[in-house]
Amino acid sequence: MTTLVWFRNDLRLADNPALAWACARGEVVPMYVLDEVNVGHWPLGGAGKWWLHYSLKEFAQNLAGIILKRGDAREIIPALAQETGATAVCWNRRYDPAGIACDRDLKELLRGMDIEVASHKANLLFEPWDVQTGAGDDYKVFTPFWKACMDKAASIGTPLPAPKVQVPAKLPASDKLDDWGLLPTKPNWAAGWENLWQPGEQGAQIRLQAFLQEGLHGYAAGRDMPAHNHTSRLSPHLHFGEISPRQVWHATQNAMSHDKALAKDGNKFLAEVGWREFCHHVLYHAPALPEENWRKQFDAYPWEDDRAALKAWQRGQTGYPFVDAGMRELWHTGTMHNRVRMVVASFLIKHLRTHWREGENWFWDTLLDADLANNAAGWQWVAGSGADGAPYFRIFNPITQGYKFDPDGVYTRRWLPELAKLPTQYLFSPWEAPAEVLAKAGVKLGETYPRPIVGHAQARAAALAGYEIVKTAKGD
Ligand SMILES: Cc1cc2nc3c(=O)[nH]c(=O)nc-3n(C[C@H](O)[C@H](O)[C@H](O)COP(=O)(O)OP(=O)(O)OC[C@H]3O[C@@H](n4cnc5c(N)ncnc54)[C@H](O)[C@@H]3O)c2cc1C
Repeated sequence: MTTLVWFRNDLRLADNPALAWACARGEVVPMYVLDEVNVGHWPLGGAGKWWLHYSLKEFAQNLAGIILKRGDAREIIPALAQETGATAVCWNRRYDPAGIACDRDLKELLRGMDIEVASHKANLLFEPWDVQTGAGDDYKVFTPFWKACMDKAASIGTPLPAPKVQVPAKLPASDKLDDWGLLPTKPNWAAGWENLWQPGEQGAQIRLQAFLQEGLHGYAAGRDMPAHNHTSRLSPHLHFGEISPRQVWHATQNAMSHDKALAKDGNKFLAEVGWREFCHHVLYHAPALPEENWRKQFDAYPWEDDRAALKAWQRGQTGYPFVDAGMRELWHTGTMHNRVRMVVASFLIKHLRTHWREGENWFWDTLLDADLANNAAGWQWVAGSGADGAPYFRIFNPITQGYKFDPDGVYTRRWLPELAKLPTQYLFSPWEAPAEVLAKAGVKLGETYPRPIVGHAQARAAALAGYEIVKTAKGD
């Protein structure tokens, strides 16, 4: 019997429950839809398109064929099911509101056509509706959420092997991947990224193994230091489903069982994967999370709308070196270290009092791991408006954060070559350096590197004044 397997962000053969289900039935027609209709406000960003191109290219080779179509999945899937004579359509579940709505419609439509529909859990360890408080509510705080998950850890199960996929000799017509124009050309701002990343299932496994061997030991402390190689860099692979969280879970448990000294680092790493689960849990239960304050009091915050300041932030020209280093890392590599994401986000929201949605949009377009749940939750966490958010009044000091998390300035100098010769003592606040120190380092403030666009103390005071309004505003 022929089954149409509709791949979305699950571009892998191994541990792919929908694919395994279809293979057990017989012949498989694999397909991917570039759907720019059922995406709500969130069509794929520029960096995500770059990743998708290479990920699909590899996946098509691994499958020995995949049908690519561009358009509305609600029209394309039923038409293709009919054309191929498929008696069933299956997919792995997604959790964004527009995707859920589309899948619901399709289920109804296909069942009306007498076609079996099967959806599977593949991209989370725990379904958002399966983790509940004693009172039957969803969780709003990470620690009890993750404890409840760990109580159910036995339900995670073991990863599935890659099945033997029997694709019909003749597949219906497909679009050509190159015709989708997913890669940037004028200009090619992603030049060189192919040396930094290996999109696809194989690249994901290589990353995981390298991390387990070289990064996991010392992760708990090292994960906060952007100059070090202590984080997994698995996030784009996880976002596009080239690796499943279950594979990550099992490989980490396995590493821990062979080396007891890894327990602390391994559990910390799995708790970060747990944050990914939590963000999806929150998005599922609060589908407006990407667009609206989760805490309604924040609707009263007096945001500024300073376009020049926003542009300076986007370009890494704020005059605060630790912030600028992060923004340039993002532009040049498609990623940014988590610690620095928190600092740049805090700077935009609190020092510039720019709405978190502006930052969320910029990250959406420029991050290779741009993910609706993680990105929205990350921004609202920093803003203090989210579930289990950082308290608003905790304002990251962009100068001391630099000294603390980049004590030798290695990360900051890497991204700001114009400050490379500045002694570390002044690296995070060059305006405090004596004139002769600046001259010796070849730094001309306002020329080779900007002066700070806001003063830290004034900005902090203004942010806190805004927060006073939030405190007295009506909440949910
Ligand atoms: C403002 C802001 C925006 C963010 N936007 C995104 C986003 O669009 N996509 C995204 O995947 N992550 C996002 N994050 C979370 C985090 O920064 C990245 O997941 C992490 O930096 C990825 O690097 P890594 O794979 O080396 O992480 P590791 O430390 O190796 O962690 C392993 C995995 O756990 C998950 N994870 C780790 N930290 C978090 C977290 N705080 N929230 C949710 N999941 C987490 C990721 O899937 C990650 O790959 C954001 C954080 C902030 C503060």
